[in-house]
Amino acid sequence: MPKLRKRLLLDEWVILAPERADRPRHLDLSLSSAKADTCPFCPENEAITPPTIASWRSEEFAEEPWAVRAIPNKFPALRVEEPVQPHSDRLYESIGGVGAHEVIIESPHHDTSWESLSATHLALILGAWRQRMTDLRGDRRLRCAMLFKNHGARAGATLAHVHSQLIALPLVPSGLQAELDGAREYFKDTGRCAICDMLKRERQSGERLVIENDAAVAVAPYASRTPFEIWILPRDHHGDFMAADPSLVAGIAELIEKLLPLWSEAIGPVAYNLVLHCLPFDLLDEPYYHWHLELLPRTGQVAGFEWSSNIYINPTPSEVAARHLRNLASRR
Ligand SMILES: [Zn+2]
Ligand SMILES: [Zn+2]
Ligand SMILES: [Zn+2]
Repeated sequence: MPKLRKRLLLDEWVILAPERADRPRHLDLSLSSAKADTCPFCPENEAITPPTIASWRSEEFAEEPWAVRAIPNKFPALRVEEPVQPHSDRLYESIGGVGAHEVIIESPHHDTSWESLSATHLALILGAWRQRMTDLRGDRRLRCAMLFKNHGARAGATLAHVHSQLIALPLVPSGLQAELDGAREYFKDTGRCAICDMLKRERQSGERLVIENDAAVAVAPYASRTPFEIWILPRDHHGDFMAADPSLVAGIAELIEKLLPLWSEAIGPVAYNLVLHCLPFDLLDEPYYHWHLELLPRTGQVAGFEWSSNIYINPTPSEVAARHLRNLASRR
């Protein structure tokens, strides 16, 4: 049974999940080599996976039993059945691995990726994320949900079929907490949201701006951790992704549909991680945070220095990356 243990002296947690040792071993498969007939995420293989939590249909995939499908992860890092059971002494602290770990199978088609999905379908996926997060929010033991995509073996994907994951936690992970703390401090000092200010500055200067539409802006962040890191920022201030209305979701999907082909033209078929940052469930009314997506290509290796210092070494300034992407966009 999974457990969360707090790292010595740090406000950082580790999930101990021995069951995950049984995960599929074909980790090093390149994206195209997994076979559709043995893939648990393909239609007609539904019996291999845990039962469907929710599924979504669409006109585009009218012939298929579903267009998007959410299931529990077969090898969960956390489980809703776990008791909270907090334990702490002066030295060590732990809590039960209560939480949820779901997989969102993003298309019935085996050989596809976000880059080749339509904006309508991407909006369906984002809508599915929203719905799953809203559902889990009802469990008072859970404090927040992390939605993320690992694309490519190098980014941590273990199955080739296009999917994302949702992990709901009984605590706020330190990566998100650090951003929340920074946003709260900025708001306290200035009375404004840091991401709204970032949006304003990036749209004024334009040097790190990639593309934008009425709903959102794609920016290479000032301190990009890797070459071609991109943040997608909704234009209107909102800390709660679950409150996003269908027109905002559709606008963001359109922006992603335009962005990804530019991005892969610039850096090739690269592995990447995409994460959604949103206010924790118990802080949804707080004014200081602004939900967003972070897209991080796995171009280099996270090695000893990055692990030990949390400092990344990036050879490509964000201005250079953004200019390159804008040039590609203007040629289309
Ligand atoms: Zn498949
Ligand atoms: Zn804002
Ligand atoms: Zn963030």
